[in-house]
Amino acid sequence: MADIVPFDDRDGWIWFNGEFVPWREARIHVLTHALHYASCVFEGERCYNGKIFKSTEHSQRLIDSGRMLGFEIPYTVAELDAAKAATVAKMGFKDCYVRPLAWRGSEQMGVSAQKARINVAIACWEWGAYYKDLRLTRAIYDRPAPNTAPVHAKAAGLYMICTLSKHAAEAKGFGDALMLDWRGYVAETTGANIFLVIDGALHTPKPDCFLNGITRQTVIAMAKARGIEVIERHIKPEELASAQEVFVTGTAAEITPVHAIDDLTYQTGPITRTLLEDFHRATRGHAG
Ligand code: PMP
Repeated sequence: MADIVPFDDRDGWIWFNGEFVPWREARIHVLTHALHYASCVFEGERCYNGKIFKSTEHSQRLIDSGRMLGFEIPYTVAELDAAKAATVAKMGFKDCYVRPLAWRGSEQMGVSAQKARINVAIACWEWGAYYKDLRLTRAIYDRPAPNTAPVHAKAAGLYMICTLSKHAAEAKGFGDALMLDWRGYVAETTGANIFLVIDGALHTPKPDCFLNGITRQTVIAMAKARGIEVIERHIKPEELASAQEVFVTGTAAEITPVHAIDDLTYQTGPITRTLLEDFHRATRGHAG
């Protein structure tokens, strides 16, 4: 752990409710509603060569996630886009990860917090590849049913079962966990969507109870543009054995080939390679 610089002890600036504060001073009180009751939504974005990929889509999703948690973020999409770009510029990064978040503050404690202030912050940092030689194992938790949680929000509370599932997978020597949904269908990993190549077609779970990732939507469009058939459907875990290629998609994960799911093994195949090239072009193929 010696080489890990804690996230609260770095140089730089964080955009905090409309102004830049020195990185180490971007603090909140322990009696913050979000910390106790998970009233927080966030985004994960990547900046490539000075330009945030799909910035507007992420800003819109942040606002939509807030609404799903019953609050209104006090900034427009355009204001969030401008604040994110300003944060990246202030940090002087060309390539980085961007983390906007919005949460209920300290004005009220208790389950109800109608009058708590909605705070917004944006931080960014340099972050390389999220996964290396990715092998998955079945998660210890399933994705919740849509009538048990706001499943389409990128909400902090939904990550409780993700952290637990990922820790359990890591304890077994795997890189991440493959979560099933509440019906037992294949859903996603703890932070990325999943795709299978079966006989030349791309199969991916219908996002009816988990995040319809922005990278997922990008990859589906890229595949269709290549003439690759894309089938969004319910996928049973038994079907993983008939896939020739498997990969996951996400802002942090980008496109990462999956080399194993428990006892099943996979090679990085031609369709994954094609989409990796297209994705690289889409994200880095601009002058900056
Ligand atoms: N599912 C989960 C649980 C995630 O955390 C993420 C990352 N935001 C994704 C899917 C992929 O979403 P995106 O491509 O928009 O980053």
